[in-house]
Amino acid sequence: MISFVALPTIIIGAGVGGLTAGAMLVNKGHKVMVLEKSAKLGGRTTSMEYKNHILDNGFHIMPFYKKSAIFTILKNLQIESRLKLAKVHDIAFYADTGFHIYPKGMIDLLKLSLIPFKSRVRLLKLLLPLAFSSIEKTELWDEVPLTKITSNLDSDTKAFFEAVCMLAFADTADHISLGEFARTIIRANPFKGGTSEFAYPDNGGYDSICHVLADFILEKDGNIQTKHSVKKIIIENSKVTGVVVIDSLNSEKLIATNSVVISYPAYTALNQLFEENIIDKEFVQKIDKLNKTTSVVEVHFALNSQLDTRQVVFPVGANYVTKGIFFISNITPSVSPPGEHLIIAGTPVLPSETEDSEKIKNIVSKMKQEISSIYPKFDSSLIWERAMAWKLVESVVKEPGKVWKSKMPHEIPGISGLFFVGDSTISYGIGTDSAAHSSILCVPKIESFLNSN
Ligand SMILES: Cc1cc2nc3c(=O)[nH]c(=O)nc-3n(C[C@H](O)[C@H](O)[C@H](O)COP(=O)(O)OP(=O)(O)OC[C@H]3O[C@@H](n4cnc5c(N)ncnc54)[C@H](O)[C@@H]3O)c2cc1C
Repeated sequence: MISFVALPTIIIGAGVGGLTAGAMLVNKGHKVMVLEKSAKLGGRTTSMEYKNHILDNGFHIMPFYKKSAIFTILKNLQIESRLKLAKVHDIAFYADTGFHIYPKGMIDLLKLSLIPFKSRVRLLKLLLPLAFSSIEKTELWDEVPLTKITSNLDSDTKAFFEAVCMLAFADTADHISLGEFARTIIRANPFKGGTSEFAYPDNGGYDSICHVLADFILEKDGNIQTKHSVKKIIIENSKVTGVVVIDSLNSEKLIATNSVVISYPAYTALNQLFEENIIDKEFVQKIDKLNKTTSVVEVHFALNSQLDTRQVVFPVGANYVTKGIFFISNITPSVSPPGEHLIIAGTPVLPSETEDSEKIKNIVSKMKQEISSIYPKFDSSLIWERAMAWKLVESVVKEPGKVWKSKMPHEIPGISGLFFVGDSTISYGIGTDSAAHSSILCVPKIESFLNSN
């Protein structure tokens, strides 16, 4: 049975992309309805409670702290005080020579004990021109691999680049575009108003960001429906006229609208939501090429003693499977019950490896050995462990030719009322920062459409 209800702009998906776009639209007086297929808000940032700990959907931190696109949006909406942020700044490398401080600015590079002094000077010479360049200039390097400037470096300095790429992109340096790397260095440069600090919601749970945004949408009379999966977008005469939705009772309904914002990976949505021949085949094939994602295996460990006071430690060197150890209870104790401590260790893998339980078991066992070798108290402190694998971390990789303006555009020429946000669409930054940046870029286009209709 099909019922007809006239509704405002439909946003498909309640992750960071969909909810930032929704919050910005309701703030300007537009009516929105967010339709989310799962029972929870947050998309890839969803958190859960497990044995009295708050577990994120894999380790999440907010790059660029209060300079991030997310914080900028909250500030513009005048709701930044609703998201209390813990600063993530006590970061170290761990090499066979022991712990080494993580540089927070250009000058810190000279104190980077991880590498010999001569290499530090060389590194500074390499990074300074990038840090003082402009975002416009970086576009010239979007097709160039980072390894173009690192290939002649000594192995210690290369290891440093690998650690930075792991921190910033959860990937190895040979997969990173020099343009995207340079934009990160520019935004991190404190001499140009940037910050290399990270943030995490002080109350625990990275999905707090999405809850703050969702509350704001509801306060402004927006509508959010979970357990509502959009099956089809109807386009007639090159204009959006409605969406077909399966609701929580499993019944199908048609919602009439002239505008839809898709916030989940565009290459998936283009192949799921449209009648054949509505979207140009060549365009779809071009966007399908963005379907290359980063994947990780991560393990939560609950402990009955505090192994370290640092917040993040990056084991450096090819010998380590563990690429990051995140002491979440040291970022904010609110994630764990009294007397217990939560850490998460992670490593990037191939997408196919996320389905290989033997491989995951071996990775977990290697990680445990490595953490015990750094922290001998680890084994006796361990209460429980919980391993997980994610095929989809970011919707697009940071590979040369697949970044910034080469991503999915926010509109498809010739189709009116159809918009795209989220981390697969035009934006720079990392993960949630790029999803929010896409909304900053796309919302003015949606508004201009709504105001002229
Ligand atoms: C393990 C892991 C670690 C990560 N670490 C970090 C990190 O440290 N820092 C960082 O910034 N980012 C990190 N990310 C990436 C970050 O989570 C994503 O980039 C970001 O959340 C993407 O937001 P989005 O809104 O674009 O998409 P999503 O969060 O994927 O939101 C899309 C939403 O659309 C919904 N949806 C899909 N299809 C339909 C449909 N047909 N109808 C209705 N709803 C639908 C989905 O259920 C989902 O809720 C990590 C991701 C993972 C998985």
